[in-house]
Formats: sequence, structure tokens, C-alpha cells
Amino acid sequence: MDKLVSLAKRRGYIFQSSEIYGGTGSVWDYGPLGVELKKNIKDRWWNAMVRMRDDIKGLDAAILMHPRVWEASGHVAGFTDPLVDCKQCKKRFRADDPRIKGTPGTPDVVCPACGNRGTLSAARLFNLMFKTFMGPVEDTASVVYLRPETAQGIYVNFLNVQQSTRQKVPFGIAQIGKAFRNEITPGNFIFRTREFEQMEMQFFVKPGTDMEWFEYWKGERMKWHHSLGLADDRLMFHQHTKEELAHYARAAFDVQFDFGGTLGFQEIEGVHNRGDFDLTQHQTFSSKKLEYFDQPNNERYLPYVIETSVGCDRTTLAVLVNGYREETVPGEDEGRVVLGIHPSLAPIKAAIFPLTKKDGQPEMARRIEKELRAKFPVDYDETGSIGKRYRRQDEVGTPFAVTIDGDSTNDGTVTVRDRDTLKQDRIAADRLAGFLAEKLGV
Ligand code: ATP
Repeated sequence: MDKLVSLAKRRGYIFQSSEIYGGTGSVWDYGPLGVELKKNIKDRWWNAMVRMRDDIKGLDAAILMHPRVWEASGHVAGFTDPLVDCKQCKKRFRADDPRIKGTPGTPDVVCPACGNRGTLSAARLFNLMFKTFMGPVEDTASVVYLRPETAQGIYVNFLNVQQSTRQKVPFGIAQIGKAFRNEITPGNFIFRTREFEQMEMQFFVKPGTDMEWFEYWKGERMKWHHSLGLADDRLMFHQHTKEELAHYARAAFDVQFDFGGTLGFQEIEGVHNRGDFDLTQHQTFSSKKLEYFDQPNNERYLPYVIETSVGCDRTTLAVLVNGYREETVPGEDEGRVVLGIHPSLAPIKAAIFPLTKKDGQPEMARRIEKELRAKFPVDYDETGSIGKRYRRQDEVGTPFAVTIDGDSTNDGTVTVRDRDTLKQDRIAADRLAGFLAEKLGV
């Protein structure tokens, strides 16, 4: 992970937020390459979940919502973690931190950070929602929250979307957006942060058909993670035990990815059968009927919801971890670092190198760059040895490198080097765009 964090910073994937001021706790900024990678992941999700289906519609709900939403959802009352503070070192811990032996607040308990005895406070509840005020007056009547999940924006718009698009149950609503949680134990780079992005889809089904749809969505979502190139043996399902299951949930599975090191297998996505809990709550709290009218059968009911909720940042981290490798190159002393990410996710699809800065090579390379740039993101580089230029691109995951050499200006051919196999193909420059497009699947 340390190597990945350093590469991510050095090459413009991910920077610490407000770094020049010492950083903001567990908040990260995506640099020029990171924003492309994350966008490619979001585009793949949006295509699979919205564009390629006629039974799911997209939505972009606001981050700020009516405060009653969070009472209905249970977040005001239930989105809390018991915490303890050390009066000596001022560190804060979750009350269930395994390093705390005994009951916090009693004299014999030792602080896991400073080692002092009897300095830990008793556990107290702490709400994970960020609070702010709407309008000029900072009083309790004007409190609003930054949403801790995007799902509620979907529930409150259930009938708006259904009626405006004339969808029939079963159908889904999907959205991608920011969520905020004042996490107590954030960390592991972008794995758990206080500001993050979620890609959520709520699928509304007739009660009684819910388990069938739950199984369907489990399968679809696992297929999607495989399609990103995540290794088979690094992905698995984890079924929530009775203790883990939320009180309203009828079934829940997490898709877990093996991040390696101390993290190991961790959740990247949750697939949940939420029953009619959410729509019932919003119906009660808003006093507005949210029932679906099934015209052919002349019946009204509250649909059950199958939710798929995946973290965009966590998936980005999984893609980076999955792709990172260090290897030796046959016939060379110096090894290389490769970000073996799926070509469809790579921020730069091809790099273009003139072998030398003379003999018309840069001009030809610039012409090729211009032609390719119209189709996908490319990078032009004429500085340093060709070996160095290859290394720079391997490290950021560019799948192809195109070299223009002495022969190119004579016979109009170029070489294309494959990041993973290191194989070089000599092909006609006017066939290049088609050749790369086919390999990239774009
Ligand atoms: P965890 O227990 O790991 O914090 P969770 O069970 O609270 O996660 P959900 O509420 O089910 O997570 O959210 C769905 C997805 O949103 C998670 O699978 C994860 O990918 C992402 N997610 C949740 N919290 C965070 C966070 N603080 N930082 C980054 N991603 C997050």
C-alpha cells in the first residue's frame, strides 16, 4: 500500500486534500490520471446499470435533503458509534476497539495509544452524519445534513421517476454521487474516507419475487467486478450473519475484494434485500402515499427494494491494488513497475514516442497523436531514452506505446508495444487507429 500511495502521488493519481496545509483527515483529491480512472469506472457502471437496460432509469438527487428524510431513514437515531476519549493523549477510539481491555470509564482500563491507566472516558454515542445549517440562522430549526448515502434521494423520488417514465414494477433507479460520513476510524488511503462517492441502484419489485431478484442482482454485480479485470481469486461473497444483518434487511451479501496486507478481504459493494422498510418509513414520515398502482391487476402495493451499493473510491483502490506489480524484464538489469489495469479503465490509452527529435520523426508523431486524440486519450513524450519513456507509461498503466523511428518516415510504419506482453508489432501508420481501437474495445 505504501508503494501505491507514493506512486499515486508522484504520477498524479491521488493527492492528499489540502496537502500544503498539512492535509485534511482522510480526504483525498484525484489528480489528472486519477480523475480519468475514476470517471472510466463510473462510466462502466452507468453503462451497465442504466444505458444498456430499459428497466433502470438514472437520477442525480441533491446532497442536501429535508432533515426529516434522515429521521425516516433511521440515520438520526441509529447512525451512531459508541466512542471513548483519552483525557491524557486526546486520542479517540471506537468503544469496541479490540485493544481496549475492560470497560472504558473504569480505573483499570489502559489507553491503547498512550498506555496511561484510567484515562479513558466512558463510551458515548457519536453521530456519523455531518451537520450544517441552511440559511443565515444557526439554530436547531435550520439544521441540515450532508447525506451519508445516496439511496434516500432515490426513495423520495420513487413515484416521480416511476410516473414520469411510465415504468412498471419491476424497475430500478440508479445514481452516482457524493456521500459524507464522519468516520471514526478512517484510513487505508481511499478505502475509508470522510467524503466519498457511491454508485447505488434501488430495484423495486413485487413482494414475493424479491429473493429471485436478489439472486439475480448478486450475480450481475459480481460479473461487473470481474469485467473490470479484478482477479477471480481476489473476489468473493460474504453473507451477512444474523448479528450483522440490519433489522429491516431480509438478506444481505457483500462483494469482498482481497486488498492484501493487513486489510485482506474487505467489502467493496453491498447487495441488500431491504423489503419495504424504506418506502414504508417515508410514507409514514411524509404522510404521502408512495404505493405503486398495478393497473392490469388493479392492485396497489409498496414494492420491495433490492439495493446494490458500491463505493467508487473503494473500487478505484481495488483496481489499483489488483493492477500493481513489480517485475524483472528479460534481458534488462532494471526491473519495472506496471499498473496492469484493464485497458478500458486506463487513463491514457496509448503513448506516442518519436525515437529521436530530428529527421521528421516528431512531426510524424504529432500527426499521429492528433489523429488518435480524436478517438481516445493519448500522451506524447519525446524526452529521455526510449526505455525510460516505456517505464513511465508502464507505471501509470498505459496499455500501448507507439514508436516512430527512422523507418517510419520512409515506409510509413510504426511499432506498437503491448504493456503486458512486451510484444512489438510493426504496422502501417494509417492502420494504427483501427488496430488500437480494436485492441481497446472502443
Ligand atoms: P464499512 O462497514 O466498510 O464502512 P458500510 O457497510 O458502512 O461499509 P454501506 O453503507 O453498505 O457501507 O455503503 C456501501 C458502499 O459504500 C461500501 O461497500 C463501500 O464501498 C462504500 N463506502 C461506505 N463507507 C465508505 C467510506 N467511509 N469511504 C469509502 N467508501 C465507503
